[in-house]
Amino acid sequence: MEEGDSNNEESHIKATRFRNLPSVTSLSQEELIITTQNDSDLLSSIRRRVQISSEKIETGSLNVLSAKYESLDYDTCENYLLLDEERKKGYKFIVRKSIARWFIFLLIGMITALIACAIDISIEELSQLKYASLSKYVDQYVTQGKLYIPYFLWVLYNIIPVLIGSTLVAYVEPVAAGSGIPQVKCYLNGVKIPRVVRIKTLFVKSVGVVCSVVGGLAGGKEGPMIHSGAVVAAGISQGKSTTFRKDFKILKYFREDHEKRDFVSGGAAAGVSAAFGAPVGGVLFSLEEGTSFWNQSLTWRTFFASVISTFTLNVVLSTYHGVPGDLSYPGLLNLGRFENFSYQIYELPIFLIMGALGGLLGAMWNHINYKLSVFRMRYIRMRWLKVVEACMVAAVSATLGFLMMFMLNDCKPLGQDPTKYPTQLYCQDGQYNVLASIWFQTPEASVRSLFHDPPNTHNAASLTAFVIVYFLLSCWTFGLATSNGLFIPMLLTGAAWGRLIAVGLSLILSDNLLIHPGKYALIGAAAQLGGVVRMTISLTVIIMETTGNISFALPLIITLIAAKWTGDFFNEGIYDIHIQLSGVPLLPWEPPPLVHNIYASEVMSHPVVTLKCVENVGHIVELLKLASYNGFPVVDPPLTDQTEVTTYGRIRGLILRSQLIVILKRKIFNETSDEWDDINVGIFRDAYPRYSTIEQVDVTEEEKTYSIDLRPFMNPSPYTVLHSASLPRMFRLFRALGLRHLPIVNDTNEVIGMVTRKDLARYRVWRHQGRMGVEELLISKE
Ligand code: ATP
Repeated sequence: MEEGDSNNEESHIKATRFRNLPSVTSLSQEELIITTQNDSDLLSSIRRRVQISSEKIETGSLNVLSAKYESLDYDTCENYLLLDEERKKGYKFIVRKSIARWFIFLLIGMITALIACAIDISIEELSQLKYASLSKYVDQYVTQGKLYIPYFLWVLYNIIPVLIGSTLVAYVEPVAAGSGIPQVKCYLNGVKIPRVVRIKTLFVKSVGVVCSVVGGLAGGKEGPMIHSGAVVAAGISQGKSTTFRKDFKILKYFREDHEKRDFVSGGAAAGVSAAFGAPVGGVLFSLEEGTSFWNQSLTWRTFFASVISTFTLNVVLSTYHGVPGDLSYPGLLNLGRFENFSYQIYELPIFLIMGALGGLLGAMWNHINYKLSVFRMRYIRMRWLKVVEACMVAAVSATLGFLMMFMLNDCKPLGQDPTKYPTQLYCQDGQYNVLASIWFQTPEASVRSLFHDPPNTHNAASLTAFVIVYFLLSCWTFGLATSNGLFIPMLLTGAAWGRLIAVGLSLILSDNLLIHPGKYALIGAAAQLGGVVRMTISLTVIIMETTGNISFALPLIITLIAAKWTGDFFNEGIYDIHIQLSGVPLLPWEPPPLVHNIYASEVMSHPVVTLKCVENVGHIVELLKLASYNGFPVVDPPLTDQTEVTTYGRIRGLILRSQLIVILKRKIFNETSDEWDDINVGIFRDAYPRYSTIEQVDVTEEEKTYSIDLRPFMNPSPYTVLHSASLPRMFRLFRALGLRHLPIVNDTNEVIGMVTRKDLARYRVWRHQGRMGVEELLISKE
């Protein structure tokens, strides 16, 4: 048999092995019928489901979805109340809403940029104090042989800010840890990540990122900017702050998941734009990494927010740097201009090889970080331990930096390179220690040095040592309880090995003029970053915009594609690994291949918990307490046939748990409320986004005998599919329309099953070293 055939067969076996449910043709009519609809049967069916989900699952497993994540509702609930509102408001309201939307995007751009400026200026000022004093003390004590004094000072200067930052993250808002890009990605994909877009998160993130960069951790401020932009967008678009319990009573019509999500994609783009001075890259980032639901006007508004963001940042930072009006600071990350670089055609294969090397190193980095993350999930669970680990990394960072400068006496004449704090250490007069100059500045400034330092500034031994140390250090740092991103450390590691390759090439090739180390540093940086995050289009554009060199598009894209393909051969990108580790039910761009033979009847949950159009209050309360589901099909009372077996009723609509809770809280019962004037779609918007739980709803025994007419509130035309619909068809519906619940109906339009995001996300492509298949994931309770 051909090798391809055996792979095919294996993937088929793998696909069928996990398909434990019978297909629709083998399901008997009785199996599709619920026998009774009373509460005790309902309870037992729900209990059965809970038991399935409480199977013992190994920590750190990548093939588990967590049941705790809920979905966002992108589908508009076109109920009677909404239609009533539309009828009353007319076209003037549409124009007003559109103007308000543009204004909010303007504000998102400006506020995101202002936050970026505040973070940048704080980092700049504090780092200057820190590194100027360190450089001075090193030179002062080296002659006295008391180098341990500046060393301990360095350790202290690292530990204090990191202690503050990680305490904030660990004790106040753990979701502010890391770059926040995986969380924003999940949110834009349609998964509610608790507390991800709250003001408290923004505060912890902003202070945290200043602390970790000043604390000398191998991390950057760029990733967190994307998260900050997302929080700003989610906050100001709602006209209220739940944290401060303040409702400004404005912008109420934006209090819906799909509106908020559009703003968040604008905020993420504005964040990228502020971080890298790359407005187009920002839009592409939102498109490539984030939002699933995209249209032309959203692209346009997102681009507007991005441009405003980079402009605002430019104005403020130019003023801060004493050149107001000069507008030469479009982004936080300033890699300097590369205008004079060009490449030869014979260099393209070299770039390709460097891309593949980046993919290889990236896959290795991801694997080590994955193992480390699993270790952390198992053993570093206590908050104080997380803080201790962060402080330990801060101390080790200083120690390694110190050892490198001390042991590798790499000296260069002063004046060759625009280093801010030239430290002499053991060098002769008129010279400075190159490694000290790399360590005694922010990582971002170090990337700039590696890109622009003249040839022969760095020798091979120091570059090699630096690559190894920074590779491992950045890997250890990512995933700590601190707010910092990985763009800069990856660029730095890549720039260092890129420069190393240039040193090697200049030994082999005689034409030294062509081998400008800065060019190779740039390609190495792109390859390393691409190998870790696996972004292609947005990263190419971001790097192009940051370096202002359009002619490097081809080398960059070749490098990034090679890095992605090589890396994908071994594992996923780092963001996806972390998303899978937390069990988020993310829906990828495409359904798994070769699964057209999996039908809705195999994927769906049944029996379905349904409600009648006019339902008893007590029954609803019990149901909400028993079942954790968020959506319930509303059906006609089930028919009874001759054998006294009731079937599911015909579908009439779909109602959400949140809607039921609001109705119960407002006590809109048939028996008590005949006044409909106060009841409008606003009652749901007032409660959005933090709805009460069923336990917080107070219903008296008497009220439990009342009834609710669900028809004005339910979505009267939910999307449904037949039991014979294939998995890819349902997947595309979810992905394109942002659905949350998809009732499955039989030929007579009776509800026989329910499909949600988790039912689809659990079918995932399985790839390992060139082999492929489809696996079905487990669902855990936590
Ligand atoms: P989400 O969590 O995405 O906001 P949800 O809480 O309603 O939606 P899930 O947690 O995704 O639903 O569902 C878990 C399982 O319960 C899925 O297998 C789904 O098919 C099933 N399910 C959801 N709603 C119902 C229902 N009304 N009746 C029976 N099963 C349901």
